Amino acid sequence: MKETCNKCSRNPPVYFRDYSGERLCKKCFLSSLDRKVQRTINKFSMIKYGDHVAVATSGGKDSLVLLSILKSIVDAAKGITMSAITIDEGISGYRDESLRIVSEFCSKLEIPLTILSYNELFGTRMDEAMKLRPSAKLTSCSICGTFRRRAIDMAAEKVRANVVATAHNLDDEIQTFMINLLSGDVNRIGWNQASSTYKEGYMKKIKPLSEIYEREIVFYALQKGIPFQGEECPYTNESIREEIRQFLNDLEKAHPGIKYNTYKSTMDISTLVRNRRGSDMVRGACQKCGRDCTEQICSVCKIQEILKPADPPG
Ligand code: SF4
Ligand code: ZN
Ligand code: ZN
Repeated sequence: MKETCNKCSRNPPVYFRDYSGERLCKKCFLSSLDRKVQRTINKFSMIKYGDHVAVATSGGKDSLVLLSILKSIVDAAKGITMSAITIDEGISGYRDESLRIVSEFCSKLEIPLTILSYNELFGTRMDEAMKLRPSAKLTSCSICGTFRRRAIDMAAEKVRANVVATAHNLDDEIQTFMINLLSGDVNRIGWNQASSTYKEGYMKKIKPLSEIYEREIVFYALQKGIPFQGEECPYTNESIREEIRQFLNDLEKAHPGIKYNTYKSTMDISTLVRNRRGSDMVRGACQKCGRDCTEQICSVCKIQEILKPADPPG
């Protein structure tokens, strides 16, 4: 007898979800992911009537899947506006492909796109920053991640959004937790939330894919024919993230479901840290640029200072 999907009992299965034991056909797999994202949005009250959601879109699989799922949700909900924002880091040969993919995908879905670059915002391209940094201790991804968070905020402000959606998936969230744990940065562990607003009236940050496995997002993109960037960032191998990703994937292979359990634990720990360290985590304004910050000088200004070209001799 021919095997059929465990949900609809009709179509042939195309995906084996090993943590639940389900075999799903294409239609049931896609709708299960759509529903999961909708559930995450509802659980954290991420979006409400009247919101303008800016989706940070890099051109990778996660951000294009998020754009596609959110577009259906926004169209069905009415009263919600949506934009895409893309940041050009200034990495030769890498960003060009993704900018083309994002532009084509956004025009197909009829989503307005705004592109801002590190160069216009911070006066430095990533390629230059890599030459100007004093040592490899200041890693590519810590420079880039710091600039990107700020650039996304600025792009969202530019399009007058009040919500920023990023495409962090469940794997990203655990990796970030472990990076902070291994580097002794307990405060940062407290910042990790699926949905957050630091103060009333501040930009809300949401992560609608934060409960979805990375592997399922890739499969969703492939099944839906969503194009995504294949090119790897040339600076990626400086990050410990890749080693942690491999370690977690090996664990998941041997113990299906362990990543989801770990994710739940990281979220609980994050809440405990936030509640415990409440007063340490109060945000003020950076003395240099005036933007939201937890210390006297924000990390963007600190990095810009470090990356200043040396004065010419004489
Ligand atoms: Fe930036 Fe690192 Fe991502 Fe490359 S891998 S785009 S350097 S954060
Ligand atoms: Zn089915
Ligand atoms: Zn600053």
